[in-house]
Amino acid sequence: MNEGLNEREYQRLAERLRIAIWDKLDPLEERIEDEERIPYDIVMPVLREAGAFGLLVPREYGGAGLSVRQYLPLIAEFAKIQGGIRVLVHVHNSFAHALSEIGNEAQCKTVLPGAATGEKSVAFALTEPEHGTGADLGTTASHTDAGYILNGTKWLISNSDLASHFIVFAKTSPEQVSAFLVARDTPGLSIEPLPETMGCKGGEHGVLTFDHVQVDESALIGAEGEGQQHLGRALEISRVFIAASSLGTSERALELSLAHARSRVTFGRPIAQRQAVQRYLSEMATDVYALRGMLADAAAKWDAGARIPAESAMVKQFGLEAVGRVTDRALLVHGGIGYTRRHPVERLYRDARLNWLEEGTPTIQYMVAARELLSGYRF
Ligand SMILES: Cc1cc2nc3c(=O)[nH]c(=O)nc-3n(C[C@H](O)[C@H](O)[C@H](O)COP(=O)(O)OP(=O)(O)OC[C@H]3O[C@@H](n4cnc5c(N)ncnc54)[C@H](O)[C@@H]3O)c2cc1C
Repeated sequence: MNEGLNEREYQRLAERLRIAIWDKLDPLEERIEDEERIPYDIVMPVLREAGAFGLLVPREYGGAGLSVRQYLPLIAEFAKIQGGIRVLVHVHNSFAHALSEIGNEAQCKTVLPGAATGEKSVAFALTEPEHGTGADLGTTASHTDAGYILNGTKWLISNSDLASHFIVFAKTSPEQVSAFLVARDTPGLSIEPLPETMGCKGGEHGVLTFDHVQVDESALIGAEGEGQQHLGRALEISRVFIAASSLGTSERALELSLAHARSRVTFGRPIAQRQAVQRYLSEMATDVYALRGMLADAAAKWDAGARIPAESAMVKQFGLEAVGRVTDRALLVHGGIGYTRRHPVERLYRDARLNWLEEGTPTIQYMVAARELLSGYRF
């Protein structure tokens, strides 16, 4: 758990990031949407200089060590611009943070100082083409005298083109899941791209094939059989980060809609003066306000050292529903022009859709929250 920066240092960092986001990254939107590739030669130095890679890396490893309360508005700001950049920043920070919590000292020392500067990056390898999620995995890790041998396939793994390390979940017995830190260049690990996505364009979400990948004991995260526990810990807070992304996208959609409603004139009056349009705007603002409140509560609890198993699933679920409603209404306020390429509202609508899938679908969030509530957890 990070303690966070003092307020002055935090404001300086936040301002540096805002300048990078709006002056240097936002202008790349058209190019990334057209080429469906993030120009890493431009984007990586901008992110590095602004300090975007070390936001959640603890200070002892050279990062900013932000608290969750401090991090949420920053990832929300990234979710206002081109979505591929937000995914890159989210995955990097979220799983560097996860490693700082679940990894041992040697694993943290190997990866986190490089992650703080962007020279290294951790990605998260759970999803599989032939299996479900959580305990339903086909990837195996067989214990040998020399360590473990991994076999299996993961897919849809974000940042697969730039990650130096992957947190990989595999079965160490039919009943047990374990987590491993696997370096990208480990022999037997091959990485292939998947086709481009509907929104959040430009990043790579590739296929990882493990063909007798030999790792030594030091690759095991925690103890054998603790994989589910590590998965729960990593996703618990990462779901809150996705909800913050939903918030950022919603805030931008609302701002664009307010501006459009004031400037678009029909029948001699701005559409902002029509009660029907005012209703859309006020519903959008209500979702933004509610989501902000839920996020503030989740962040305060986490930063105070509490676990938030139900809250994180509920805020992630509320966030995706809210951003769905808000981007939908934003299209209604904008009329036909909002449906055209080049309009940020069209992109926000597509980008938001990834929030449904990241860190688990709605059915997973319902299941997690209900399981906690039925076992007596209260929030
Ligand atoms: C752009 C992108 C980036 C991603 N990045 C990553 C990443 O970095 N790392 C990673 O590990 N994964 C990543 N994913 C995968 C993502 O987490 C999954 O796609 C998502 O969790 C859904 O899993 P699935 O695709 O296997 O769908 P499925 O599990 O096949 O689900 C299909 C439908 O069935 C429902 N369903 C499935 N099982 C059950 C059940 N038991 N009970 C009730 N309903 C069920 C689901 O809710 C869904 O509606 C990414 C996906 C995308 C699109």
